[in-house]
Amino acid sequence: MTLQSTFKKQFSCEFSAPKSEEAGAKLLSAHDRLAALGPAYFSVTYGAGGSTKDGTKQAVIDIRAKGSDVAPHLSFGGDSADKIEALLSEYKNANVTRVVALRGDMPSGMGGSVRLTYANELVDFIREKTGDHFHIEVAAYPEVHPDSRSVESDLDFFKAKVDAGANSAITQYFYNPAAYFNFIDACEKKGVSIPIIPGIMPISNFQTLVRFSDMCGADIPRWIRKNLEYYQDDKESLKAFGHEVVLRLCQDLLTGGAPGLHFYTLNQSKPTIRLWRDLGL
Ligand code: FAD
Repeated sequence: MTLQSTFKKQFSCEFSAPKSEEAGAKLLSAHDRLAALGPAYFSVTYGAGGSTKDGTKQAVIDIRAKGSDVAPHLSFGGDSADKIEALLSEYKNANVTRVVALRGDMPSGMGGSVRLTYANELVDFIREKTGDHFHIEVAAYPEVHPDSRSVESDLDFFKAKVDAGANSAITQYFYNPAAYFNFIDACEKKGVSIPIIPGIMPISNFQTLVRFSDMCGADIPRWIRKNLEYYQDDKESLKAFGHEVVLRLCQDLLTGGAPGLHFYTLNQSKPTIRLWRDLGL
């Protein structure tokens, strides 16, 4: 039995921060449909460049007001410590008790003028300013973060976030369960003892998936890519194939002891609802 299989299983959903009022309203409709499934919490991404910062805060406050637990994603970007501390206070006052602490990527247009603050430093900062108020999630990379110097250093830096006080982790998405189980083994050997929850990206659009995967370094196995390419002009067949692939991935992960699943919904409720139901969650 792995350590991961001893944790209570937890299922959650992620939204992308809306960039307009209309997108905010769509997100809330998707929230209402997904909330009926009873996820443990929702999270809302954060664009450190500034374009979606307000969208994140508003979505978080709106979701909280609807009675759901919600975790804003957070990174320093180019902001001062005072600004981040003030944002944490606002979240605390809105009864938010979870955050996802990230380094983030270089906001476009900022060139080299900003030094990105590593996620372990942000976890330190949150603990220093707010004690144990927040349950802190951090990111994990079973297929190795694209900027990392080596597998070993990536693992050591992941452990640094845990040692700084992270309570649990969500992985970047992947389609090869062996990458997750190998990562879990390596973490256990390093003495990491927090839940590491697989991030699941449903498949419903070939071009979007390829673009995202190229950006974040997620591998699309050749057999999946070839099938998606074949079905790309036949949306229904592509969705049916994508659903079967991701359903089997989720089943393999849960059977192998993963402590839950975190769905990257991209603000679409249908693919996640279908997976949730077919998994019998
Ligand atoms: P870190 O854990 O800080 O690691 C970044 C890189 O630096 C790694 O290669 C690591 O090995 C290395 N490293 C870490 N610490 C050190 C150190 N002390 N010294 C030297 N090297 C170090 N992006 C967004 O913009 N907004 C979001 O809302 C968002 N949400 C995400 C949610 C999840 C679950 C995941 C998996 C990713 C998310 N991302 C988001 C993407 C993420 O911001 C990028 O992957 C980013 O490049 C790394 O962030 P991190 O927190 O993992 O960084």
